[in-house]
Amino acid sequence: MSRTLAKLNELDVGILNGVGPKKLEALHALEIETVLDLLMHYPRRYIDRTEQRAIRDLVIGEEAMVLATVKRVRLVPARNRGRGRVEIDVFDGSSYLACTFFNQPWRAKQLTAGTEAVFFGKVDMYRGKRQMANPVVDLVGDKTGKIVPVYPQSEKAAVSTWELGEFIAEALERAGQFADPLPENVRDELDMVDRTWAMQQIHAPESMGAKSAARKRLAFDELLRLQAVLVARKRRHESEAKGIRHVINSELVNTFHARLPFPLTGAQQRVIAEINEFLAGPHPMHLLLQGDVGSGKTIVAVTALLAAVAGGYQGALMAPTEVLAEQHALGVRALLNDLVVPSQGGTLFEDRPLRVELLTGRATGTERKAIGAGLANGEVDIVIGTHALLTESVEFAHLGVAVIDEQHRFGVEQRAALRGKGDDPDVLVMTATPIPRTAAMTVYGDLDVAVLDEMPPGRTPIVTTWARGELEEQAAWSAVRDEVAAGRQAYVVCPLIEGSEKIQAASAVETFEELSAGHLQGLRMALMHGQVPAKEREAIMTAFRAGDIDVLVATTVIEVGVDVPNATVMVIVNADRFGLAQLHQLRGRVGRGAAASRCYLLGETATPEGEERLAAMVRTTDGFDLAEVDLGIRGEGTVMGTRQKGRNDLKLASLRTDLALVVAARQVAFRLVDAEEGLAGHPILQDEVRLLVDDDEAEFLFKS
Ligand code: ADP
Ligand code: MG
Repeated sequence: MSRTLAKLNELDVGILNGVGPKKLEALHALEIETVLDLLMHYPRRYIDRTEQRAIRDLVIGEEAMVLATVKRVRLVPARNRGRGRVEIDVFDGSSYLACTFFNQPWRAKQLTAGTEAVFFGKVDMYRGKRQMANPVVDLVGDKTGKIVPVYPQSEKAAVSTWELGEFIAEALERAGQFADPLPENVRDELDMVDRTWAMQQIHAPESMGAKSAARKRLAFDELLRLQAVLVARKRRHESEAKGIRHVINSELVNTFHARLPFPLTGAQQRVIAEINEFLAGPHPMHLLLQGDVGSGKTIVAVTALLAAVAGGYQGALMAPTEVLAEQHALGVRALLNDLVVPSQGGTLFEDRPLRVELLTGRATGTERKAIGAGLANGEVDIVIGTHALLTESVEFAHLGVAVIDEQHRFGVEQRAALRGKGDDPDVLVMTATPIPRTAAMTVYGDLDVAVLDEMPPGRTPIVTTWARGELEEQAAWSAVRDEVAAGRQAYVVCPLIEGSEKIQAASAVETFEELSAGHLQGLRMALMHGQVPAKEREAIMTAFRAGDIDVLVATTVIEVGVDVPNATVMVIVNADRFGLAQLHQLRGRVGRGAAASRCYLLGETATPEGEERLAAMVRTTDGFDLAEVDLGIRGEGTVMGTRQKGRNDLKLASLRTDLALVVAARQVAFRLVDAEEGLAGHPILQDEVRLLVDDDEAEFLFKS
């Protein structure tokens, strides 16, 4: 009989012979409670003994591995701060090598004279002797194994990688055959090894090739579990819900497009056609529209909203901040100015002007009531707002299309809440923070995806400068003054301060006062942050748009959506405090007109990541490029952040490098889910999903 993961998860790791009370405690510290936890504690890396060298043959500057015995150990105390260093000399029969460990005083106890170990690191020359600084150390256990796994541990772990290896070997032995969730024909097709072999080889590989095959299989399994959930959810949306067949290419939409002061870009036309197909279709749309900052998503969104209105339904546009909602309301009203909603069929209703309303948390009680009434009786055609739209008291007569702007600020729950305001409305989710394709398929795998990959013509690229020193900073402020003198406008973004809105506001006030009295003295300036009341904020934005303010000093409240084409320069103070996606969003506030725009990133950075981020900003303005860089720097957390679900299960798979596996897993998931019996026909897989994909919503998988 073969073991399922669920069975292994019922076995306490303490049942293993090698695990006594002390080791049990150590395992618990590594969050290993069950035999399954132990088996899924995969090696962090491997030492390939076939690559082992003799010390005599080591080449300066190259990475190498030696197996040697410790001969001398010396603990050198720290001079001032720090924890000193441990110097050891090791010998392998061919020659001596010095190894130095900084800030790891415990090495003196670990590497006593006579200890045999593998040392892996870069060889360099120090005071005429060959040495390795902070080499990776593997205490040698089983000397016959050619490839030795190294397990993740904490520095002070009371269990060595060697002991972990022994426990795992016992667990594998006792587990025997593993149940395999993947049908054999699929395995053959994808050239995948079986589960049992994969589990054995990931822990104790015969060769590096065997390790790779094992990793591929187990990483695929992780991705398949996640895709099974996403694909099943997508199919459920499609089958359970009866969508609205919206009216596309209506008079209303045609008039709207005809009145635009510019032709639609090719990408806008293509994406609108794609969306129309969904809107006209029988199932509710769940589409993610990716388009870089400034690519013209608003027009696409409004086109979709008008499809609802043309058929007598309502449209809703939800934005993450009040500033953005206000901005959208202004823009959309201007775009739809005196459009007329045709009467619905009968003669009872006359044509009437289209009604657009703004609803945010700042609306007064009376306003709220009036808008609420209009939404409930269908007189309001389009409502634009913040998450205030999700308030329970907000009811729609018949919500037909819901658009969510800047999705990265919203979670799945909010998306569901907005959808719940109608009877299966079509949902368009828009994001200006592009995410790489693998990530999109993993994080938004229950959505269809469309991409707006072309900028409206006439934009001039933004030139970005990292102003690191005093002189460069002076140049940034002169650039602001020059642009203002030329009749243009500027943004100054205040340093990001962690903590409350109040603290952030206080720091913004400080920046504002410094600049007004210093570098930007004499310019017409305004300050905007989260604590400024809505009315005042609206007034400031109106004045800025009208050109009555030269410099807007602001916090990240202007991060998304703000659209003032005459603003041509942005200075971001202490730029390294911001994340890459945020910097890209902020910079997107300039470069929106025909005039050349510039962006200055101020300040030094203390970290290599900061260096990489700011250098990337200087190098490119392409959001997709930057998204790749960000994924590289921050890893999976970047994109899984807002949707934690299933993240813990991705131990081996990498969204960065496993594109082919993600694609394959998604295809297989579609096949399994779409088969007659659905996932129910694959009980082992179904069980594993239940066990490992932490998703409340996944419950629907198990209801037939
Ligand atoms: P985003 O995708 O960042 O939301 P917006 O929808 O705010 O972009 O559009 C950015 C700017 O480009 C706006 O000023 C908008 O009027 C303008 N725009 C949109 N589509 C076109 C087009 N086809 N041609 C010229 N300008 C356009
Ligand atoms: Mg936008």
